[in-house]
Order: sequence, then structure tokens, then C-alpha cells
Amino acid sequence: MYKYDKSSLIAEEFINDDEIQKTLKYADENKDNLELIDKIIEKAKLKKGIDHREASVLLACENEQKLEEIFSLAKQIKKDFYGDRIVMFAPLYLSNYCVNGCLYCPYHAKNKHIRRKKLTQEEVKNEVIALQDMGHKRLAIEAGEDPVNNPLEYILECIETIYSIKHKNGAIRRVNVNIAATTVENYRRLKNAGIGTYILFQETYNKQSYEALHPTGPKHNYAYHTEAMDRAMQGGIDDVGIGALFGLELYRYELAGLLMHAEHLEAVHGVGPHTISVPRVRKADDIDPDAFDNGISDETFEKIVAILRIAVPYTGMIISTRESQDVRERVLELGVSQISGGSRTSVGGYVEPESEEDNSAQFDVSDQRSLDEVVSWLMELGYIPSFCTACYREGRTGDRFMSLCKKGQIQNCCHPNALMTLEEYLVDYASEQTRAIGEKVIAEQLNNIPNEKVRKIAQEHINDIKNNNKRDFRF
Ligand code: SF4
Ligand code: SF4
Repeated sequence: MYKYDKSSLIAEEFINDDEIQKTLKYADENKDNLELIDKIIEKAKLKKGIDHREASVLLACENEQKLEEIFSLAKQIKKDFYGDRIVMFAPLYLSNYCVNGCLYCPYHAKNKHIRRKKLTQEEVKNEVIALQDMGHKRLAIEAGEDPVNNPLEYILECIETIYSIKHKNGAIRRVNVNIAATTVENYRRLKNAGIGTYILFQETYNKQSYEALHPTGPKHNYAYHTEAMDRAMQGGIDDVGIGALFGLELYRYELAGLLMHAEHLEAVHGVGPHTISVPRVRKADDIDPDAFDNGISDETFEKIVAILRIAVPYTGMIISTRESQDVRERVLELGVSQISGGSRTSVGGYVEPESEEDNSAQFDVSDQRSLDEVVSWLMELGYIPSFCTACYREGRTGDRFMSLCKKGQIQNCCHPNALMTLEEYLVDYASEQTRAIGEKVIAEQLNNIPNEKVRKIAQEHINDIKNNNKRDFRF
């Protein structure tokens, strides 16, 4: 039997089933132990995080008053670390060819009626121009696993194409990559291609369920998939994004698994995950979410987001357009720091949106609003949509967010960067109405930059963006 060891490089030891079972049992036994729950909440108030066992106790807790305390602490931590800023991104689907048999994804190899498509470089260019014209600066590229149709060389070529396109005032300044687990050498090549975050969802941390849900293809190998982030870090990528697909397994198992994964990365590499994504199973071609009986309610989903927020304050949290406007609104307050907007989840979907009948999307989009509508909605809720990519471009990778936090520089760095990139968006892409709201937000929020010198420079840069067609300022 495997023994739990967060510093081990063996999947079954750092995501240890026995430890998770014991954690869930401990959480059940202590879910009414108010003294312990208070202690955990007090520890969380120090804003240095809590571990998987402590987080699991909070997740099991049903005491109304304690839940309120947890939610209000999550909101506070969100505010302290991320202010009102929400980072914007869009997914770009390159190819839906895939040799794997994932039961929850319409791209699985046995789905013979879905239209298979792989973008040519010309099509990548057109998609990127469409995304730039919406105002996006940060992409997450997605592709199925297929060594013949989508070899790494193809992905690298697409990344080069994406970075090379400068259309009008547009530019994609950060390309995050979501592709199958691969070798250290291939991760090194991705790093050299200038990727931002390497994203790979675990789907489920439960090995038995994992193997059942991935009956065929290379992804069937649980250990190879689970150890991917260690190889990515060995290959020099120090921004990695983890995630679990909620609905496949028991959510309590996944929360413990996610946090154990984060604790492992921190213990071995000295840096936790850059982001955590919290997708839920969605309807898609050939996929019925009701076929997975571990679906979670919106209330439970919110609780998961809040607990993750207090467990790993420094880790960004991402939510996609899988979620509806309402759910997105609630989880933004509780902890989510990055959202996609105006997304198309089909290959080539930005240039040519697909019809209902001919649908090759990976999942149905719940939030169908345009980026402009999302930006305007965020500002009306009091947020600052940010198109910032500064850290990556200044070489501040790995634990840079943490060091910005520790030096108390967030308000003098992330905040002005958010305002300057928002100004770029307003001038180049926003509708008249959105621009009017945005200019007001920027004028007010400039006052919240504590350092007088930084405030003055930010104001000058914003004037230059508005009046002198200058772009790409950053702190
Ligand atoms: S989840 Fe990824 S690996 Fe699995 S079938 Fe879909 S595209 Fe392929
Ligand atoms: S300055 Fe760095 S940490 Fe802050 S929003 Fe920009 S990229 Fe993120």
C-alpha cells in the first residue's frame, strides 16, 4: 500500500487515497466540532492558508453561523489579495482531434459524428485577429491529444503564429497552454516558446474513478497524468494551473485532492500552483451531465470556491463561461480572480460561430454575452476588468504574485496595470456605453493607488493611451 508523502514524486503517494479517506472521515467526525472549526477559521484569518484536512472540515461543516464566517472571510481575503480586479482571458481551440476516450468530453475518439477540425496557421491567424478585435490580450490554447494530428511541433507553430500577429493596436501578450501531459523535454520546448501558464486538469483525483472515466488512450495512465506538473516544473515552467472537473467524483474527495496537489508542488518545487480552475461537467454533443451522478448544487459550488480561497490565498482562481451569469457573479465575490468572456468553445468558432446542428464545441456555453457586455457588467458590479500580463512579460514568474503581496506592492503594481490595460480596452474596443462607464471607474480608481509617484505615472500613461495612441505600459 502507498504511504502518504507530500514530498514524494510518486502520484499515489502525494495524492494518497488512504490519506483522503482518513481526511474525509476526520472531517465527518469534526463537522460539528465548533471549537476546532473556530480554530481553523482563526488560522485562516492569518491569510497564510490552511491544509487539506482543515479545509475538508470546513467543507463538511453545516453550521449556518460558521458558514457565514467562512464566506465573509473568503470575501475579505479576495478583497485583500485581488482588490476589485478581475483578469480577463479567452480560450482558443486549435484542434479537436483526440485519441483519448474520456467519457465526459465530446472529443473522445469514439465520437464519430462530431466534426473534427484542426486550424491551419492561416486560420489561427484569423481567429487571433478576431480575438484581438474583441480586445483580448491573454489566451488559453486548447487541443486534444493526438500525436499525429496535433504533435507538439504543431502546438509550437501555433504559439509562434499567435505571438507574431499585431493587428491594429492588438496583441496577444500571454499564451497559456492547456494540452495533454507530456515529457520534461516537451515542457522545456513549451517554456522556450514563451508560454505563460501550463494548465492541465486532473479531472478527478480518485484513481479508480480516473481509470474508469479514461478507459482508453494515453490519458488512461493516472500516474503519468498526475505527475505532469512535476515534469512541467522540471522543464522550467514555474506557472502551472491545476483543476478538477466537479461532478465526476465526490466533491469532497476532489477538494482534498486539489489541496494535496497544491501542498505537494509547494513542498517539492517551492511554488504552489499559479491557478486553480473549478469547472463543472456541462452538456455537450454526446455528453449528458446527468449521466454523472456526482453533480453539485450552486450552493455547494460556492462553498468550494470560498474554501479554496481561504485555503490558498495566493493562487488565482479561474471560472469559465460554463457557468451562468448568476453563478459567476456570486463566485467572483467569494474568490474567483480570472474569468473568460465572449468565449467560443469550438475549433474556429471566433471567425465562424457554429450552428446548433453542426456543433463541435467542447461544452455548451452558459454565459453567451460578448466581451464588451461582460466588461461592462463587471464594472457595474464594482470590479475592474484587467487585461494585465505584466508579470509574465517582466519575467516575474513562479511565486511573483506572492512576492508582490509580501512587499505590499499589489496596489502599486496590479492596480495601476489593471487601469492602464482597461484604458487600452476602452479606447480600442469598447462600445460607447462601456467606455463611458470605464472612464468613470478609472478616474475614481486612480485615487486608490497609494504611492503618489506611481499614481502620477499611471495617470500620465493613461493620458498617453487616450491622446497619443501609445500602448503597452506596465509596472
Ligand atoms: S478531455 Fe481532452 S483528452 Fe479527453 S477526450 Fe476531451 S480533448 Fe481528448
Ligand atoms: S501585475 Fe502581475 S500579479 Fe498583478 S495582475 Fe498583472 S500579471 Fe497579475
